[in-house]
Amino acid sequence: MSQEIIIALTKGRILKETLPLFAAAGIEPLEDISQSRKLIFETNQADVRLLVIRGSDVPTYVQYGAADMGVSGKDMLLESAGAGLYEPLDLNIARCQLMTAALKGHSIPQGRVRVATKFVNIARQYFAEQGVQADVIKLYGAMELAPLMNLADLIVDIVDTGNTLKANGMEPLELIAPISSRLVVNKAAMKRKYQRIQQLIDSLRQAVMSRA
Ligand code: AMP
Repeated sequence: MSQEIIIALTKGRILKETLPLFAAAGIEPLEDISQSRKLIFETNQADVRLLVIRGSDVPTYVQYGAADMGVSGKDMLLESAGAGLYEPLDLNIARCQLMTAALKGHSIPQGRVRVATKFVNIARQYFAEQGVQADVIKLYGAMELAPLMNLADLIVDIVDTGNTLKANGMEPLELIAPISSRLVVNKAAMKRKYQRIQQLIDSLRQAVMSRA
């Protein structure tokens, strides 16, 4: 039975915050990830390898056990609603808010609303809970263009500083969920490799706590 641990990391801005936290927990890639086009990286821990992939793919890799553990934005976890995952630790990085937003000063139409977002599952659930009839339109990027071009009345998107919304004449309306990156673990891997995975969770927990 292999005791190797594969950890799937989200590339991009989350990775920049993840690597210092992992270093503080004693896990460091053997080469500079930002200078490489590789997707799999050895680390100073002989039994730990890192995958660097799209955030929306991290829950999938961990859910199917192709990775034992992962670092994923809560937004991706809510959207994928992944079964087979434990979420043992809030890493308290890449904090932002998942919000509804509309053009500044525009009131939301009564009755049916059109909502553009890449978070279609979250949006459907949110508006259903609010008792609002919503036509949810899937986009893959630049959500803030949709109200400007009259594709949608509202968007559901990540807001950090709010600058992106502001630059496009929009304003945030309602908070759907506060977001941060979470450590996730495949349930079967947690059973099979319990000791080592628990050790890694503990080291990361220490690293998170020592920054708080
Ligand atoms: P801001 O202009 O600072 O409000 O940033 C908003 C944009 O940055 C969003 O459209 C997101 O695409 C992206 N963004 C900011 N923070 C995060 C995060 N923690 N995770 C994922 N995307 C983010």
